[in-house]
Amino acid sequence: MAHNYEGGCEHVRVHSDNEPLDSHTCHCSICKNVTGQLSTHVVFFKHGDLVVDNPDGLKRQPFNAQNPDGPLELCTCATCGSPIMLDDKQRRIRAIVPNLMGFDPAKMPPTYHAFFDPAAGNPKPNDGRPVYEGLQPDFVWPNPA
Ligand SMILES: [Zn+2]
Ligand SMILES: [Zn+2]
Repeated sequence: MAHNYEGGCEHVRVHSDNEPLDSHTCHCSICKNVTGQLSTHVVFFKHGDLVVDNPDGLKRQPFNAQNPDGPLELCTCATCGSPIMLDDKQRRIRAIVPNLMGFDPAKMPPTYHAFFDPAAGNPKPNDGRPVYEGLQPDFVWPNPA
């Protein structure tokens, strides 16, 4: 059956039939380290909305290697090593990087720039989307699933 949003690798599939909570271009240093991209398109779903068909096929590691006790875990496929999603130990959200995790980025375009640090020396984005030093100010973390 077709889902609204679908991604993953050939061993572990993830999907959501509900709309994402948030879609932004992230400029933080953790995303830069993990993805090797200057900025990263990150999409948040409610934890219960992003469904994994084969959770036992995932390998988990801290998203932020500098802060292994942080809430986010990077889940990769135990078979092929593909990045699959970020899972929140507090069960509020699950996040994906569409272009690296098998999703169609065009279906969930980013609406703003997040975690932009003027001190990092990169030019401020000027594509018309708002630029924030964190998540968008009206973002509300959902209750744990
Ligand atoms: Zn980031
Ligand atoms: Zn795989």
